[in-house]
Amino acid sequence: MEFVSPEGLRLDGRRPMEMRQIRAEIGAVSSADGSAVFEMGNTKVIAAVYGPREVQNRGQQLNDQALVRCEYSMANFSVGDRARRPKGDRRSIEISLVIRQTMEACILTHLMPRSQIDIFVQVLQADGGTRSACINAATLALADAGIPMRDLVTSCSAGYLNSTPLLDLNYVEDSAGGPDVTVGILPKLDKVTLLQMDAKLPKETFEDVMELAIQGCKAVAQYIREVSTQNFIFLASVSQLSV
Ligand code: UDP
Repeated sequence: MEFVSPEGLRLDGRRPMEMRQIRAEIGAVSSADGSAVFEMGNTKVIAAVYGPREVQNRGQQLNDQALVRCEYSMANFSVGDRARRPKGDRRSIEISLVIRQTMEACILTHLMPRSQIDIFVQVLQADGGTRSACINAATLALADAGIPMRDLVTSCSAGYLNSTPLLDLNYVEDSAGGPDVTVGILPKLDKVTLLQMDAKLPKETFEDVMELAIQGCKAVAQYIREVSTQNFIFLASVSQLSV
């Protein structure tokens, strides 16, 4: 199948290095301490953060840092006509773990010992790249909750189809069988905190695809900073915190 036309356009009309339209809304869940909706094209997710609060299961309490928990799920209606795996399947458990580890890289957990932070992310509409959208939503929700962080974490995916690196794959591109590289970065600290890939790629091509995904992450970071400023959310800079 042709994923890039001779004119250099993808099936949804984007250029290879073009991201889908991103949009965020802060404070969608009023009962949560922080929340955000994040859209990347037709992929739409919601994140709600509770905490820092008392540890519910005392046996899990950590005396030197906060306990971070994360639950990823997909709404029943999120995939339309396509099949959705049942709640709590292996994929959801793996993505919950990946998101938790990614968010732990930015939360200053040592400042909140003996407490618990719960991050719930739910996919409302799935069209590829849901884990990236969930990480971006979780970052905004944590910032909205006032949780101290070393930096933002932002995420984006990239792939390689028809010998062309493609930024921010949608479902059709994602399910084409090519590589799907999901990257998460700490933009100010200039560190990669997440890297997942599900196919083989020559090393030089991998570097191009990875670089493209990093550019996507940086564009998301720029957007998240703008949204935070508009919503009067303070994003601490690295120099203001002891990392
Ligand atoms: N998907 C689906 N049903 C499912 C799980 C996923 O239709 O039960 C679709 C959905 O659009 C998702 C895409 O497959 O975004 C790719 O899923 P993947 O596991 O690669 O994770 P993602 O790219 O969403 O992070």
